[in-house]
Amino acid sequence: MLYVLKFGGSSVADAEKIRRVAGIVTEVYCEGHDVVAVVSAQGDTTDELIAKAEEINPRPSKRELDVLLSTGEQIAAALTAMALEKIGLPVVSLTGRQIGINTNSAYGAAEIKSISEERIKNELDRRRIVIIAGFQGVNKFDDITTLGRGGSDTTAVAVAAALHADKCLIYTDVEGIYTADPRKVQGARKLEEITYDEMLELASLGAQVLHNRSVEMAKRYGICIEVRSTCTGAPGTIVKEVVKPVEEMKISGIAKDGDVARIAVLGVPDEPGMAFKLFRALAKAKINVDIILQSYGKDGTNDISFTVAESDVKDAEEVMENCRELIGFDHLSVNTDVAKVSIVGAGMIRSSGIAAMMFEALYDAKINIHMISTSEIKISVLIDEERADTAVSAIHGKFFGN
Ligand code: ASP
Ligand code: MG
Repeated sequence: MLYVLKFGGSSVADAEKIRRVAGIVTEVYCEGHDVVAVVSAQGDTTDELIAKAEEINPRPSKRELDVLLSTGEQIAAALTAMALEKIGLPVVSLTGRQIGINTNSAYGAAEIKSISEERIKNELDRRRIVIIAGFQGVNKFDDITTLGRGGSDTTAVAVAAALHADKCLIYTDVEGIYTADPRKVQGARKLEEITYDEMLELASLGAQVLHNRSVEMAKRYGICIEVRSTCTGAPGTIVKEVVKPVEEMKISGIAKDGDVARIAVLGVPDEPGMAFKLFRALAKAKINVDIILQSYGKDGTNDISFTVAESDVKDAEEVMENCRELIGFDHLSVNTDVAKVSIVGAGMIRSSGIAAMMFEALYDAKINIHMISTSEIKISVLIDEERADTAVSAIHGKFFGN
């Protein structure tokens, strides 16, 4: 079988950890499998490189920054290969460019367009272990690009897809995907399986275990990913298209996103085209809107509220002020002390009473809900930010027990 293994920055942080990684690679290789291992930069290397760049030039070009940042992964790849050489195994380390990872030209956030699998296949045919520097590629100008923070996951999934790998294992410092952040929620449980869609929801809601784009790519190419711990090596969480229902589990996880702000536009005339004009203006300013709510306001007007990322709130406010005359609303109210708490579960569409359970947990904890939104696989509520951790624990207790 062909295994693609990926080791995150914490897994290759120092010599001892690299030796442990070499041990895992050796074990798989000695079972007779072909092994490709993708590595991230050691520990905080990428942050340190960014700091180094800023010391020289606070605003370096993205091209030069990518040349610099890609070296972190190269160091880790070479060191990992050296550890395997020491054990006496045939191994070769390769950069993104050497395995023909072609990307578009968006320095710092490049998207992979193709991989030429030839070089890797040749090396594997010679029974060599292939160590790949993650997070990097090359654009049509033959310049080095990087894939965005956390992008080594995407390298691993792309390589697994290109080579039709049998297994894609992502080794990291947590044991898998949990029902809630295990550092904050007592009794958070490790999931055996999770669907791509659930994983995407949980990732964008703040559980930063996998690079979002890697999950999108895995879904597109049907690559089953397993997230497991480098330390224990115990079975982790499998991310795939369809998972078997677990009887006692009505949802898969709970996530919190504190990076939200609510803007309420009050006293909007009750006429056709008002929502269109508001949201067109926001779209023109490239501001992403999440939850939207329209309700009756005073004297036959409507109130329209919506949420945006906190980083967009100043811009959104300005855009709204500029529409004031066009629309003729009364006033704006902005609240940044809010958080979004969501429950996610592919099975919720098939069971009733899930929303009521969530709302009951919030009621028991005396937490007021400002907004609610639902989709096929999630229910989100907007609440006061200072109550968000309590809300997550209360909801977790309701669904999973504590
Ligand atoms: N080293 C890069 C980062 O820190 C990529 C990665 O770790 O996946 O974001
Ligand atoms: Mg990562």
